[in-house]
Amino acid sequence: MTETVVLVTGGSRGIGAAVCRKVAAHGHTVIVNYTRSAEAAGKLVDEIEAAGGKAVAVQGDVQNEADVLKLFAAADDLGTLKGLVNNAGVVDHPERVDEMSVNRLTRMFSINVVGAFLCAREAVRRMSLKHGGKGGGIVNLGSAASKLGAAGQYVDYAASKGAIDTMTVGLALEVAEEGVRVNGVRPGIIDTEIHASGGNPDRVAQIQSKLPMKRAGTADEVAEAVLWLLSDQSSYTTGAILDVSGGRAILP
Ligand code: NAP
Repeated sequence: MTETVVLVTGGSRGIGAAVCRKVAAHGHTVIVNYTRSAEAAGKLVDEIEAAGGKAVAVQGDVQNEADVLKLFAAADDLGTLKGLVNNAGVVDHPERVDEMSVNRLTRMFSINVVGAFLCAREAVRRMSLKHGGKGGGIVNLGSAASKLGAAGQYVDYAASKGAIDTMTVGLALEVAEEGVRVNGVRPGIIDTEIHASGGNPDRVAQIQSKLPMKRAGTADEVAEAVLWLLSDQSSYTTGAILDVSGGRAILP
């Protein structure tokens, strides 16, 4: 039987790693993409294989087209692409818009937006019935920040996630009759290393008492939503954006 492959960008840690574990447990071969965390990605592959699943770690920067082509070529070698989880994403240290450098803005939009588009393009080229594919699903990781705006922190990040929400809706409609469903998950504050990479390792501790449920979410809680949207259980759901935020920023 041909293997079904799911490609998870930024799968080495955090939400992406939780998605990789669940996708593998559901019988798909997983491509665990990473940029720098080779050791974490390797350990995750070992863990998945020890649990009876199949996974391959592939290095690649999603903002680099050649790397994206390499990632998808790796998926092609393993079987039939069934899903893409556009999870790779970065924040930056808190700054006002009037302080932001062009380098910061270019990096933010290249990784969070251009990277997601390049990966979606390659996924549609393989999964769309129009291109001879067998259908599949794309799940894009947005953020509650797209509704909040993140003033004084990272309006650039919030805007990049706004672009992801819009891409989810537009692409979903573009390929709706081609067997490809495109959905989004919009996490709130989730306890991962992303906050430390944005210069604030204590962000979860500082903010949790202000959250509706008085706690941050876990990567696993987000991964459950991603898995459902990827699976056939959500067969009539496309263009949906699911808030997994414990009630944070649930109003439009
Ligand atoms: P994380 O713990 O910082 O992990 C980020 C992952 O993305 C890592 O695997 C990292 O790889 C990878 N990555 C970073 N830049 C990349 C690039 N250019 N190309 C390929 N991979 C790259 O992040 P997370 O908290 O799990 O967040 C995952 C997604 O959820 C992101 O899109 C984020 O914006 C979104 N989100 C997170 C939260 C939250 O509170 N955590 C809230 C809302 C939305 P390396 O390990 O190799 O660096």
